[in-house]
Amino acid sequence: MVESVLKKLGQTDNCVLDDVFVQAVSEVLTSLELTIRSDSRYEQFAIIERLVTPDRIIQFKVQWLDDHNNVHVNNGYRVQFNNSLGPYKGGLRFHPSVTVDVLKFLAFEQIFKNSLTGLPIGGAKGGSDFDPKGKSDFEIMKFCHAFMRELHPYIGARIDVPAGDIGVGSREIGYLFGEYKHITRNYDGVLSGKPYAFGGSLMRPQATGYGVVYFAREMLKEELQESLEEKVCTVSGAGNVAIHTIEKLQQLGAIVVTCSDSDGTIYDPKGIDLALLRHLKDEGRRLSLVEYINTHPHALYTPKTEYPDGGHTVWHIPCFAAFPCATQNELTLIDAQKLVENGCVAVVEGANMPTLPDAIELFLREGVLFSPGKASNAGGVAVSEFEMSQNASMEKWEFEKVDRKLDELMRQIYKRVSLTAKEYGVERNFVDGANIAAFKRLSEAMILEGV
Ligand code: NDP
Repeated sequence: MVESVLKKLGQTDNCVLDDVFVQAVSEVLTSLELTIRSDSRYEQFAIIERLVTPDRIIQFKVQWLDDHNNVHVNNGYRVQFNNSLGPYKGGLRFHPSVTVDVLKFLAFEQIFKNSLTGLPIGGAKGGSDFDPKGKSDFEIMKFCHAFMRELHPYIGARIDVPAGDIGVGSREIGYLFGEYKHITRNYDGVLSGKPYAFGGSLMRPQATGYGVVYFAREMLKEELQESLEEKVCTVSGAGNVAIHTIEKLQQLGAIVVTCSDSDGTIYDPKGIDLALLRHLKDEGRRLSLVEYINTHPHALYTPKTEYPDGGHTVWHIPCFAAFPCATQNELTLIDAQKLVENGCVAVVEGANMPTLPDAIELFLREGVLFSPGKASNAGGVAVSEFEMSQNASMEKWEFEKVDRKLDELMRQIYKRVSLTAKEYGVERNFVDGANIAAFKRLSEAMILEGV
């Protein structure tokens, strides 16, 4: 079944790494083989074919002026993948590596993640190949306004609600919202991750990272009767997800010794100085991590050019638990071998699909607890949905209330995933557990809605 669907997607080889959409579909369908055969309705309603085909892909030109009045042109996209469970929902990514293929993969993952939350949200993703690095605040604003001028006809509080992702934080969401309001005169919850001043939810910036750690805490407690206290943890990335994962790990007493950006890795055996990391990576600043060692000479900086062959320095540092929080395909088989060799007991994904398929296989074979991003990083989209609820009812929830609800929701996701894995005879295989649990909810809705 996997082969034939991949063939239809125009892909004859089983899994090609420069085609991340095929990689994501292949992983999900492999998990679902037995489930699909167990119910004839899936074939009757062509569920798989419908599930792997986006509802629509919107592509547009974004033209904007830099501070010297030079004209620039970028590609903008929105992939509305599936709205069977609720309005399309998923982030916007601004990064030069953005292509239709990357956004299709992210949107496909998003429909499963959103299904796992149990909340009424469908899946989408969007973005642009625009590079925010080195741009002035005004240039970011002008780009966001130009982007929204093209995107606004396709979104709405009950239609499609974009949020942030790589390169898009609350500053960018603020500019996007401003332009949406300017054009439509609608003051509604069309975007989530807004600044608190105009309808944003408290805790949205922290939600993904905190959720990752809540998931990890629950998984370690239930599976190994272990806690994170005084345990050495490694984290990759230095953006929103990484920073808040580090923050919550530190609050729970863990010792986080690494972080990384696109140029290199910091290893600080005394524990990452979070205040300094924030200072370096503040939205307007985005300085290189090499600056970290200026004030912390005991720490080690490894530039990307010196990473071990086919691997990443972060994963070669011995740890109890590892948290990949940067980007897709950043943890290779070589890294996985090193993690296993060094006695790592759990790998909890904060980024979307950061671990390569053969690395996941190794973790599962070696009994390393492995949580896929669609389960452990679902806290971000969940709090986005809380923001939609607050906007719709004109309410404002306290930080503690959002935090409590997030913690509870991450525990429920863990339970859903682990119980499904048990029920389907693949205990502790949280990849299969997540894919099957998400698929069952989603496919039921698709069947009930008819074709
Ligand atoms: P940010 O833009 O805030 O940070 C991304 C980090 O990853 C930065 O440190 C960046 O380095 C690094 N990075 C980006 N691309 C690469 C690359 N090709 N190679 C190496 N490093 C890279 O993004 P987020 O923290 O928001 O997102 C991180 C991951 O989490 C992504 O996979 C995203 O899809 C996922 N995610 C995010 C959610 C959210 O709420 N923000 C929700 C769920 C998932 P540099 O500083 O040099 O740019």
